[in-house]
Amino acid sequence: MNKSIHIKMLEVWFATGSQHLYGPETLKQVAQHSAIVSKHLNNEEEIPVKVVFKDVLKSTEEIYNLCLDANHNKNCIGIITWMHTFSPAKMWINGLKILQKPLLHLHTQFNRDIPWGEIDMDFMNLNQSAHGDREFGFMMTRMRMNRKVITGHWQNKEVVHQIAGWTRAALGWNDWQGAKFVRFGDNMRYVAVTDGDKVEAELQFGYSVNTHGIGDLAGFIQSVRETSVTKLCEEYTALYKMIPALKKGNPKHGALRDAAKIELGIRKFLETGNFKGFTDTFEDLHGLVQLPGIAAQRLMQDGYGFAGEGDWKTVALVRAMKVMGTGLPGGNSFMEDYTYHFEPGNEMVLGSHMLEICPSIAVSKPSCEIHPLGIGGKADPVRLVFNVGAGPALNASLIDMGNRFRLVVNTVEAVKPKYELPELPVARVLWKPHPDMQTGCTAWILAGGAHHTCYSQNLSAEIIEDFAAMAGIEYVKIDQQTNLYQFKNELRWNEAVYK
Ligand code: MN
Repeated sequence: MNKSIHIKMLEVWFATGSQHLYGPETLKQVAQHSAIVSKHLNNEEEIPVKVVFKDVLKSTEEIYNLCLDANHNKNCIGIITWMHTFSPAKMWINGLKILQKPLLHLHTQFNRDIPWGEIDMDFMNLNQSAHGDREFGFMMTRMRMNRKVITGHWQNKEVVHQIAGWTRAALGWNDWQGAKFVRFGDNMRYVAVTDGDKVEAELQFGYSVNTHGIGDLAGFIQSVRETSVTKLCEEYTALYKMIPALKKGNPKHGALRDAAKIELGIRKFLETGNFKGFTDTFEDLHGLVQLPGIAAQRLMQDGYGFAGEGDWKTVALVRAMKVMGTGLPGGNSFMEDYTYHFEPGNEMVLGSHMLEICPSIAVSKPSCEIHPLGIGGKADPVRLVFNVGAGPALNASLIDMGNRFRLVVNTVEAVKPKYELPELPVARVLWKPHPDMQTGCTAWILAGGAHHTCYSQNLSAEIIEDFAAMAGIEYVKIDQQTNLYQFKNELRWNEAVYK
């Protein structure tokens, strides 16, 4: 899975702040302790990348050089800092000013407990993070720096869990830098929320979105070999429950071959252009016999970003969230709030799309089917149909507010469908928004959240919050604690903040 995502070589750097004042003996101990802490974190399986101990930093020059190296190093996705002893923070100004990578301030201490019977001034001089980290914190606050602060003992599981979450956010952020997304055709005609400022997005997020005519893609599809199509159809048959009409020798098998050909063509296009995701639109399919259904679904499962109707912001978000969720159970998918169930006391949303929901969130083996599509005026598209399991999840939406981007999150509880949905020809998921249907949906509408989202089974709201902080954009959360009165004020006050 996630064939298009590579994180093995990536690392976060661990750097400890100090100063020369303490003398070589103390500094040696600081270095030893730092090596132990970083090694412990590196050995924690929950943290998805390597944790590499860099150095004990004792001067303005050393700090500056580390930040310079971090910026320059392609494998470094962020730095973790800790002031074991006191590190006068004016020494940090030059380095922090140029630092381009996310920063996590780990507010910890080597000793978990105070050694009550033995504590003396030597111990006190060595274990100073209680005030050393405050000096460091002041400097970043003074500099108005976005950073993550995690407090607690480094062996505490909850601390490790939080560090792992921040690391995942940094993975997503790293993946966006220099990323390329392709748009086949333009935004769906007249639609507002899927559109936006691609120039500003590139400035703010580091990824680019460019258009290729659908004819360019059609050319790739036409040059796919028939033998490759046959092979992929066999793969479909092995992986999915195939409805009889699509099987070899049956009347619709040609449509399955068309779908396979489209998948191979898009895949080749993405690989050739080094794209991390794509969007298409049913309004512009010249040269394609059917709207990509199973193709978009399977490419998403391989880690590519996708969204329909030219929605490039959601393409990028789906990709980033897939990268952030690498290796975790559960999946991330393009999603759309489709239809409501307003039964009193049992309100919920049915999420789906015309075709393109990612099988990474399927609860069981998908069924490969073909059905008519009422729009687009093309041949019936092949798609994977499945249900999605119950459990905690969230929806995230990235919108363009004109003067800024806003990331909206709503935590939800997915529920198992009570009834079969025999006539519904698409993959679907049922969820109950937090804190309840009325409040959750009202808050979402007030925040301007889109109908398109990325639905995640394995990312917490805190990871998305960390990600928004790295991007330096507005983040609003709708969860169990949301109160509409306060939420409306938050939106109002944010208008002033971002003026
Ligand atoms: Mn849509």
